[in-house]
Amino acid sequence: MSAPFLPLTRPTIDDATIAGVAEVLRSGWITSGPKVKEFEAQLAAACGGRPVRAFNSGTCTMEIALRIAGIGPGHEVITTPLSWVATSNVVLAVGARPVFVDIDPVTRNLDLDRVEAAITPATRALLPVDLAGLPVDRDRLYAIARRHGLRVVEDAAQAFGSNWRGRRIGTEGDFVSFSFHPNKNITTIEGGALVLNDEREAKLAEQYRLQGVVRSGTDGMEVEVVGGKFNLTDVAARVGLGQLPHLETFNARRRELARAYFAALAAPEVAALGLGLPPADFTQTNWHMFQVVLPEERLTVRRADVMAQLQAAGIGSGVHYPPIHLFAVYRRLGWKEGDCPVAEKTGRNILTLPLFPAMTEADVARVVATLADILRRHAKP
Ligand SMILES: *Cc1c(COP(=O)(O)O)cnc(C)c1O
Repeated sequence: MSAPFLPLTRPTIDDATIAGVAEVLRSGWITSGPKVKEFEAQLAAACGGRPVRAFNSGTCTMEIALRIAGIGPGHEVITTPLSWVATSNVVLAVGARPVFVDIDPVTRNLDLDRVEAAITPATRALLPVDLAGLPVDRDRLYAIARRHGLRVVEDAAQAFGSNWRGRRIGTEGDFVSFSFHPNKNITTIEGGALVLNDEREAKLAEQYRLQGVVRSGTDGMEVEVVGGKFNLTDVAARVGLGQLPHLETFNARRRELARAYFAALAAPEVAALGLGLPPADFTQTNWHMFQVVLPEERLTVRRADVMAQLQAAGIGSGVHYPPIHLFAVYRRLGWKEGDCPVAEKTGRNILTLPLFPAMTEADVARVVATLADILRRHAKP
């Protein structure tokens, strides 16, 4: 009787891509080479012709953007506490201080109404996140950045294919960072890309990507910055090249499934349960995730119990994310409960439901029926 396990997410990789990977493996050149160049060219085309460089993670692209911007010790970077911890770890990695500003309870993104109050003479950059692919208001974001002379590093890890008012994320702005982790809307297994402003920045990004090395002539080599080991392999780039043509269909399918979630959650007996829903946006968001917020004041159980019961019913779920400022590393820097109350309450109760292109409407119905049943059985009297 039991349906097969429904995971939280699963990449869709077609046979042509698998064959293409085998070809790269047989080619004699498997690390960074022609496939990376081709992938970068296609990414640049998808980003309005801006310079794009590929890396082996989304995380390192943000660290490198901060280094290119000259951000380091003594500087502050304003960011959101409701993100993957990479978002603020990179600020610490360059020696700067992350400053957490609370989120907007509706968008679950950085609350732009609160950003200016957090700006000090040490502030150098804004590092917003498009959680679940829902874009931060780019007009307001860049108005604030311009007013205060700040750089912007867009953590658009989850927003590949999203747009702000019809303007594709990555086609404009300052630094834009994408991730191609397997959970993201397209994948290179591991990988990321950074959209830059000009060729000078792109050259610097290449140096930071591989030990700071600059080659010249036949045997010339110079090292002027301390770079790392962040290059993408051709094998990974070939996976990305096989994914890119599907981006629009993947995201269209995600939108359809998100619509199915909204429809199922709008049924009166489900709506009465008091789940917090994401903004019903079908024009800008790539629907990287579908996240509900559990009504903690109405339940006799915690999120962990709800997740365990979903799991027992054959349904995966996830937490994206616990608030970053309450992790030990950040508490040691002075952050504490009450600093970002909206992110704290959201972080305690947010639950990511399965959403990936190969899912069906029947899967969505099953998730909502199962979740509603769990909430009903554990409702406060
Ligand atoms: C996935 C993700 C990252 C990091 O990407 P990696 O490729 O795993 O390094 C950063 N920020 C956010 C919001 C993410 O979702």
